Amino acid sequence: MQTVRDAQDRLREAGIRITTPRVVIYDFLLRNRIHPTCDEIYTALKDKNPSLSLASVYNVTERLSDENLLVRIVSPDGERHYDSVTEFHGHFFCRECGKIYDIKSCPDSLFEEIPGAVTESISLTAEGLCPKCAPSSDKKKK
Ligand SMILES: [Zn+2]
Ligand SMILES: [Zn+2]
Repeated sequence: MQTVRDAQDRLREAGIRITTPRVVIYDFLLRNRIHPTCDEIYTALKDKNPSLSLASVYNVTERLSDENLLVRIVSPDGERHYDSVTEFHGHFFCRECGKIYDIKSCPDSLFEEIPGAVTESISLTAEGLCPKCAPSSDKKKK
């Protein structure tokens, strides 16, 4: 399958040893841009991958985040979510349904550099009601 090869290629390019859990989890995140938690990844994969454990999902997502293949996002309720889109973008958290939406953004226009400081990470989060949960959605068709 093409997506599996893609996950493998990216791991190889990053110099990370190819293991089945790494490929399976990374492939899932590349194909499902839903910002899942480790629990959600595990639930989605465990049936087809009986040897996968929740602990290995935690280990793999942390490792791939350290290698900058995944982005860790902490939601307002403190849960860690993972995103395979590593280009800078912000996140909108719906406080009603908990869904996380991507916000297109450019870090250069958002922040002014502090002279002499070395910025290592920037995150942009917004909270509120998503289009499906906002009251005005009653007027629109679903
Ligand atoms: Zn919502
Ligand atoms: Zn995202």
